[in-house]
Amino acid sequence: MDIYGLIGNPVEHSLSPPMHEAAYDARGIDARYVTFEPTKDTLETAINGANALDIAGINVTIPFKQDVLNHIIPDDIAREVGAVNTIKFHDGETPRGYNTDVAGVKRAFQHHNISIDGYDAVVVGAGGAGRAAAFALADAGAHVHIANRTVERAETIATDIGGQATAGGLDTRDEISDADILLNATSVGMDPDSDQTPVPQSYLHDGLVVLDAVYTPIETRLLREATAAGATTIDGAWMLLYQGVVAFEIWTEQDAPIQQMNAALRAELEDA
Ligand code: NAP
Repeated sequence: MDIYGLIGNPVEHSLSPPMHEAAYDARGIDARYVTFEPTKDTLETAINGANALDIAGINVTIPFKQDVLNHIIPDDIAREVGAVNTIKFHDGETPRGYNTDVAGVKRAFQHHNISIDGYDAVVVGAGGAGRAAAFALADAGAHVHIANRTVERAETIATDIGGQATAGGLDTRDEISDADILLNATSVGMDPDSDQTPVPQSYLHDGLVVLDAVYTPIETRLLREATAAGATTIDGAWMLLYQGVVAFEIWTEQDAPIQQMNAALRAELEDA
């Protein structure tokens, strides 16, 4: 039996185990996906231990996505973004690291037949999700503007992307009015009781594709208001799904059973 897993802290509510185990079942792979909570101090030992124990692959989540770079060989995108969320082990050699959050954003748009090349995109938020989203959209050929409450974090991402990427504070969200793509990468909207939105409704329009990274609730106020404005919407579960799909493909070198993974993920979200 192959063992895959997730390291992060906390990971107890992760949706990855059912999503990946649905994929193993669909493909007839004898494998399990388990969660581990090392500390910053035990991270290196945990990765070396996983390598020595012949664990097949691990995902990495908060707060270790940057720290693991010191213990693996990253691919080009992971090195550029400065974060790794997927590690593949190779018979005790130094493990390889990938960033499937970036590929996941691109694949979520592809799934909805949205081309990104040449589009104007606004990313609201500049934490880990905002960084991955901004790199993904820029890499796919969009002109990216990052708007964030803390302007400096947005500026750092724009500088790291280089080229035509721009940055500003939340006051620059008005660029959404002329944009083709809006990606919310703030945590605003996660609390269903307060029903907040990261973007004034007046900026939303029917020429916009809106991806909300927030997936709890699955239908956020932003997505509801975007639908009402005639925009195309993509919920956060698609982004979550596709980072898992790409990780599965890296680990197993076969196509992921996307339908089964999506069904398992959405069943978990309904129960959450
Ligand atoms: P993070 O690193 O903590 O960043 C949080 C971001 O939200 C920052 O840009 C922060 O602005 C902004 N923010 C928080 N409260 C705000 C407020 N009241 N008004 C305006 N901006 C506010 O978190 P993250 O890991 O990037 O995650 C962000 C969201 O994306 C979460 O909801 C997470 O669940 C979701 N996510 C989804 C996926 C997916 O696959 N769908 C993947 C990763 C994350 P400051 O910089 O000013 O603090």
